[in-house]
Amino acid sequence: MVRDAKVNQVILIILDDIRAEHLFDLINKGKLPNIAEIAENGIKCSNCVTSYPAITFPCYGNIVTGSYSGYFPKEGNGTPMYHWVNRTDPPSKSKKPPFIRNYSDRSQVLKINKDIGKNVKTIFEQAPEGNMLSSFCFLYRGAYFTVSKIVSDVEGIFKNISNGFENPGMYFSNNEVPLISVGYIMHTDDIMHEKGFEHPDYINLIIECDKYLGSLMNTLKKTGYYDSTAIGLITDHGNFKANKVYDLEPFFQQKGFIQYNPKKGTGDFDCNFGSVGFFNFPGDTWHHHPSIRQMQDFKVSGKGKQEFNLFNTLWKIPGVKYMYYRDDKNKPEKGIIHIEYLEKSSGKKRHGMIEYRGFGRDQQTKYTFEDNDFYHYNDDEKSAKILDNKFHTLDEWLDATNHIDFPIIIDQIPRYFKNPRSCDIIISTLEEYGFNYDHGVTQSASPYIHDIGLRKCMIVPFIIGGSSEIPKIELKFCKTTDMVPTLLELLGIKPHSSVIGNSIFNYP
Ligand SMILES: [Zn+2]
Repeated sequence: MVRDAKVNQVILIILDDIRAEHLFDLINKGKLPNIAEIAENGIKCSNCVTSYPAITFPCYGNIVTGSYSGYFPKEGNGTPMYHWVNRTDPPSKSKKPPFIRNYSDRSQVLKINKDIGKNVKTIFEQAPEGNMLSSFCFLYRGAYFTVSKIVSDVEGIFKNISNGFENPGMYFSNNEVPLISVGYIMHTDDIMHEKGFEHPDYINLIIECDKYLGSLMNTLKKTGYYDSTAIGLITDHGNFKANKVYDLEPFFQQKGFIQYNPKKGTGDFDCNFGSVGFFNFPGDTWHHHPSIRQMQDFKVSGKGKQEFNLFNTLWKIPGVKYMYYRDDKNKPEKGIIHIEYLEKSSGKKRHGMIEYRGFGRDQQTKYTFEDNDFYHYNDDEKSAKILDNKFHTLDEWLDATNHIDFPIIIDQIPRYFKNPRSCDIIISTLEEYGFNYDHGVTQSASPYIHDIGLRKCMIVPFIIGGSSEIPKIELKFCKTTDMVPTLLELLGIKPHSSVIGNSIFNYP
């Protein structure tokens, strides 16, 4: 045991796409006895704030690294989103057009291990020594992960971890049990998109996960490791049901917008759009981000070769409530993100601004607006106090907004836009519409999505238990990037300097 260590091993289970309120409701109904056993005797929080946008990447990658998207040549996670166009800073002079990354393509998903970049470290890489086991955790840099011995059904994912304790020689030549194991269950997300969060198949799958976790806990008890092991459980984001679904294909076709083709370097735009839309447009070339002026006078290459003001055009998409884009003069260390929003009471378009400065843990942001603030921070006594025209850190935003909609979004938006791989314009319909539109194609008519800044998407469960060495604590709030530093502290290991989350033991 390392000096100051409370446990000898940690296991982290990441379930995809479960709201805190749904998980704790099932616990309270007695449906998840094993998760309850861990939560009731250890650390629990039903108000853990995830990353924005509430999409598997960035959320899941940020859990595993304890960091966020950023200006990744210098700091932060290189992966801004599930889909991105590979633009660099400065723009590449290559004749080869930038590729589109799309992690829903199974042949691309393991590239995440390279994409996150060198300036962040996975939980596995943050430990100086010891055996590391990834059970279907795609972001496995620094761990043992093989396809042949790792089974990918839900029961198998838990069993792989049990094997690490029953028969470590199966994975590790030194025959020692893994110091850190991470299991990732994406199956809950698949069913949520297909059938929805109310569907019995979705709920039963969560109950099944609890059962397999129970088997893993029994293995740990039987092999004598239970009391020296911390078990963490977290999800990457919640979800919602869009009020309406809509096929966006004709909208762009009729205007002559041609989908970007990364093989040829042709096309006018690239977009992926659940209820939040991420739009990429070419500047001088597809390697360049466009200036605001270039987006105001934008000529399409398709039918009619018409000119559009892209800002006005995107506002015509049904249900759009707000829009974000970066200022032309932005630098990685300092800049402005513009917000345009529709004021509900007057139906008028208003302008707001997020100013940012600094990097990583030291990033500070300030939010200003004309008339009413879009997020309704002003309506709540606690959050209204932070609208003081001053710059604030992530933890100050967390403290002020963890209990309302759009928690920490002012901190998160600049972290996204600082990344050279981020898009040019974000718009959101805020759950009114679901489009399921990726790269020129409407993929499905399912209304079950996740990506928006409302609590139903942004609030996830945070649980750490197992060993009796873990104190019984109920946290009022925390954030997903706190999981890794907390688990590392339990192991007596100092987190890497790129970690932005805090050990929950250091909370005031
Ligand atoms: Zn997810």
